[in-house]
Amino acid sequence: MSRIQADKHVCEGIGMCEAQADAYFQIGDDGLVDVVQDDVGESDRAHVQAAVDSCPVSALRMQS
Ligand code: SF4
Repeated sequence: MSRIQADKHVCEGIGMCEAQADAYFQIGDDGLVDVVQDDVGESDRAHVQAAVDSCPVSALRMQS
Protein backbone atom coordinates (compact mmCIF):
# COMPACT_ATOMS: atom_id res chain seq x y z
CA MET A 1 0.00 0.00 0.00
CA SER A 2 1.26 3.46 -0.89
CA ARG A 3 0.19 6.80 0.49
CA ILE A 4 -0.24 10.16 -1.21
CA GLN A 5 0.77 13.49 0.27
CA ALA A 6 -0.19 16.84 -1.23
CA ASP A 7 1.30 20.18 -0.24
CA LYS A 8 -1.40 22.83 -0.59
CA HIS A 9 1.19 25.55 -0.02
CA VAL A 10 2.83 24.51 -3.27
CA CYS A 11 -0.24 23.51 -5.36
CA GLU A 12 -1.34 26.09 -7.92
CA GLY A 13 -4.64 24.38 -8.80
CA ILE A 14 -3.65 23.54 -12.35
CA GLY A 15 -5.54 20.25 -12.15
CA MET A 16 -3.27 17.85 -14.02
CA CYS A 17 -3.55 15.38 -11.16
CA GLU A 18 -7.36 15.45 -11.16
CA ALA A 19 -7.45 15.03 -14.94
CA GLN A 20 -5.38 11.86 -14.66
CA ALA A 21 -6.68 10.28 -11.46
CA ASP A 22 -9.91 11.87 -10.25
CA ALA A 23 -10.60 8.99 -7.85
CA TYR A 24 -7.63 10.27 -5.86
CA PHE A 25 -7.32 14.01 -6.57
CA GLN A 26 -9.96 16.71 -6.83
CA ILE A 27 -9.74 20.47 -6.91
CA GLY A 28 -11.64 21.81 -3.92
CA ASP A 29 -13.66 25.00 -3.41
CA ASP A 30 -10.43 26.76 -2.46
CA GLY A 31 -9.06 26.03 -5.93
CA LEU A 32 -6.39 23.70 -4.58
CA VAL A 33 -5.93 19.97 -4.62
CA ASP A 34 -7.69 17.69 -2.15
CA VAL A 35 -6.58 14.09 -1.80
CA VAL A 36 -9.90 12.24 -1.71
CA GLN A 37 -8.33 8.84 -1.17
CA ASP A 38 -4.78 8.49 0.07
CA ASP A 39 -4.37 4.72 0.23
CA VAL A 40 -3.20 3.53 -3.18
CA GLY A 41 -3.66 -0.15 -3.91
CA GLU A 42 -1.04 -2.03 -5.90
CA SER A 43 -3.18 -2.13 -9.04
CA ASP A 44 -3.51 1.69 -9.12
CA ARG A 45 0.08 2.46 -8.22
CA ALA A 46 1.53 3.16 -11.69
CA HIS A 47 -1.52 5.19 -12.68
CA VAL A 48 -1.37 7.37 -9.55
CA GLN A 49 2.41 7.73 -9.81
CA ALA A 50 1.91 9.14 -13.32
CA ALA A 51 -0.55 11.67 -11.93
CA VAL A 52 1.89 12.59 -9.14
CA ASP A 53 4.67 13.00 -11.69
CA SER A 54 2.47 15.20 -13.89
CA CYS A 55 2.23 17.96 -11.28
CA PRO A 56 4.18 20.89 -12.77
CA VAL A 57 5.08 22.32 -9.36
CA SER A 58 5.95 19.03 -7.61
CA ALA A 59 3.26 19.41 -4.96
CA LEU A 60 2.54 15.69 -4.78
CA ARG A 61 4.43 12.76 -3.30
CA MET A 62 3.67 9.08 -3.08
CA GLN A 63 5.40 6.96 -0.47
CA SER A 64 5.50 3.20 -0.23
S1 SF4 B 1 -1.27 19.00 -10.64
FE1 SF4 B 1 -0.14 19.90 -8.90
S2 SF4 B 1 -0.56 22.08 -9.04
FE2 SF4 B 1 -2.07 21.01 -10.27
S3 SF4 B 1 -3.82 20.71 -8.90
FE3 SF4 B 1 -2.58 18.87 -8.83
S4 SF4 B 1 -1.22 19.22 -7.08
FE4 SF4 B 1 -2.05 21.19 -7.64
